[in-house]
Amino acid sequence: MTQIYDKVALVGLGLIASSMFWGIKRAGLAGHVSGYARSPETRQTARDIGLCDTVCDTLGDAVQDADLVVLCVPVGAMDDVARDIAPFLKSNATVSDVGSVKRAVIDAVQPHMPPDVHFIPAHPLAGTEQSGPTSGFAELFDNRFCLIVPLENTDPAALHRLKKLWQGLGSMVETMDPDHHDLVLAVTSHTPHLIAYTMVGVADDLRRVTDSEVIKYSAAGFRDFTRIAASDPVMWRDVFLTNKDATLEILGRFTEELFALQRAIRTGDGQALHDYFTHTRAIRRGIIEAGQDTDAPNFGRAPKK
Ligand code: NAP
Repeated sequence: MTQIYDKVALVGLGLIASSMFWGIKRAGLAGHVSGYARSPETRQTARDIGLCDTVCDTLGDAVQDADLVVLCVPVGAMDDVARDIAPFLKSNATVSDVGSVKRAVIDAVQPHMPPDVHFIPAHPLAGTEQSGPTSGFAELFDNRFCLIVPLENTDPAALHRLKKLWQGLGSMVETMDPDHHDLVLAVTSHTPHLIAYTMVGVADDLRRVTDSEVIKYSAAGFRDFTRIAASDPVMWRDVFLTNKDATLEILGRFTEELFALQRAIRTGDGQALHDYFTHTRAIRRGIIEAGQDTDAPNFGRAPKK
């Protein structure tokens, strides 16, 4: 793989940034990678594990001379970070982000960008429930989609370069309009997370089922909810605060479907339940055929020894 940027700066050094760093190194996509994190603890951890060629103590040092700056902080922090990096950006640099919501990030970042800088939002559809600088790995983006959200007047050469970076990280790149992105993600990621958070909260509230029973008998269904519900609270708080309309729209539809299933259970309408579950099983098959999950039983997890 050939080098795409001389210098890349990663702002925020958590799961996504650290995975980007290891992926950039795996494929030799950048000459130099600098990194900045807000807390001295995270910067120290990054230095200890060799995350980034240089870990900087200030935002200015990290982004100075960078050809590409990637904002890898929670969506709610994008505004402040964009304001703080703006004076240090080099002419013709590209600024991108990895935020899970796109319209709110554009509204937060774009006003701070100098006219000679290309701002091109992006969102890799890859993650785990882990967070922090030690959670990243080079393979995170392999065979996953990365959605790039070009703005009006996005420079084609800068867009092409950013696409090459994400392809070099192993992703399949597609472009999308920001509002459509936020609606699609509300269906595929944001609302499912909210449902998982709710289900784990409900189980916790049910004192008739003791805590130890919830944990001891947490077979696949509930256990998978607990994995999702262990995701980073700051990141997910910001997702719901900034993708409010789309999430509320999908939650409204979810509630209607839930009522329909509730009625089918109450009235003993086995045919309705069977038809519904047959339809949902076909959706799972579609995800496997698209190569976005394994068809091995129990997500390919090894049986517990
Ligand atoms: P993470 O592991 O929690 O790391 C977040 C990083 O941002 C940390 O380095 C943290 O610094 C820094 N940070 C937090 N609040 C900040 C603030 N107010 N100002 C400056 N820096 C701040 O998060 P992540 O999972 O990598 O997520 C980063 C971005 O990627 C988010 O926008 C998220 O929506 C998006 N994303 C996440 C996933 C996923 O599954 N996790 C998938 C796709 C996209 P300290 O360590 O010093 O606190």
